Amino acid sequence: MNKQDLIKNSKRVVIKIGSALLIDSKTGKLQKNWLESLAFDIHNLINSGVEVIIVSSGSIALGKKQLCLKDNLSLDEKQAAAATGQITLAHAWKETMSKYELNVAQILLAPDDTETRRKHLNARATLIRLLDLNVIPVINENDTVSTEEIRFGDNDRLAARVAQMCSADLLILLSDINGLYSSDPNKNKDSVFIDEITEITSKIEYMAGPTHTTFSSGGMVTKIEAAKISTNAGCHMIICDGRINNPLLKLQQTKTKFSWFKANHQPMSARKQWISAALQVKGRIIIDQGASDAIKKGNSVLSAGIIGTEGNYEKGDLIEIIDHNKKIIGKGLTHFSHTEIELIKGSHSDNIESILGYRGKDEVVHRDDLVLDKNKSKD
Ligand code: GLU
Repeated sequence: MNKQDLIKNSKRVVIKIGSALLIDSKTGKLQKNWLESLAFDIHNLINSGVEVIIVSSGSIALGKKQLCLKDNLSLDEKQAAAATGQITLAHAWKETMSKYELNVAQILLAPDDTETRRKHLNARATLIRLLDLNVIPVINENDTVSTEEIRFGDNDRLAARVAQMCSADLLILLSDINGLYSSDPNKNKDSVFIDEITEITSKIEYMAGPTHTTFSSGGMVTKIEAAKISTNAGCHMIICDGRINNPLLKLQQTKTKFSWFKANHQPMSARKQWISAALQVKGRIIIDQGASDAIKKGNSVLSAGIIGTEGNYEKGDLIEIIDHNKKIIGKGLTHFSHTEIELIKGSHSDNIESILGYRGKDEVVHRDDLVLDKNKSKD
């Protein structure tokens, strides 16, 4: 694949926009013209069939200006600034994208929302539903409740977690530098531009320098961390210069220089690898012959085919799937707890709502969350 075709060949793209691009470092105000040029690019991408998720920083920098706070904010000042600035930030996104009749939705995430499997599934489901409804999710860290110990701290890693969570094909870090160099190009004129990175070796990690700009909290170090997360999740990552107008359009032109961190494998296999590598199985469900045949053909596990359940598991937990001969067929993430399964087993998916009193998922274990394991027996 040619570098400039990366966007065109992607179905789902996460774009991370740092504070240093969105906010003028002298006035502390939003760079409206730049944002409008980016909105134009995003609109074009969506029209060509690409799904777009935005991770946008800026709340702390905007709130700091609004509240006339000085540099070196304390934790509660940062939280207050984020609470104030996030409204302005969300409003700017809404206003700008509405010029193209595009809807945006704000999602604020804390680390627990992406690390805990159950919350991760909930956040993923919301994101995917928004995309289905043609809404652009605009994500930021939930800075108002984050403390120094419990926070992503920078939106590079948050964006990579989001890319992993929603099985994106491409993560674009719009930055104040056009890519990775062998050393800091501002200090060393012999530093070499790194075009393509197929593996994140210790040499690559060594090349990452410290943070330089006033507003952005992530330097090259956090970008390399983000690259590790996304490439391991089967998602390509790009670091490119975002300081120009229409940065996404420019990215598709042959002459534009940027660094490409190549994905290790396909997104879905990364997700399935997470499941097959997970050790903590919380319980099991036993399914009938028809259901075992169906899942071997690539279908999801439905309540109708379940004949029993064992163990105490919750929604989002990893469970084993056993056939009626006690053979382990696979494992996957359940959308229902053991108490719910006890009630809905053997029933058609259409009846779940009347049995439980609320509408859950149609599938107990979705095929995307299921890994087959052919040769093991439970006993
Ligand atoms: N979440 C922070 C904000 O919106 C910024 C984090 C970052 O710049 O990486 O202000």
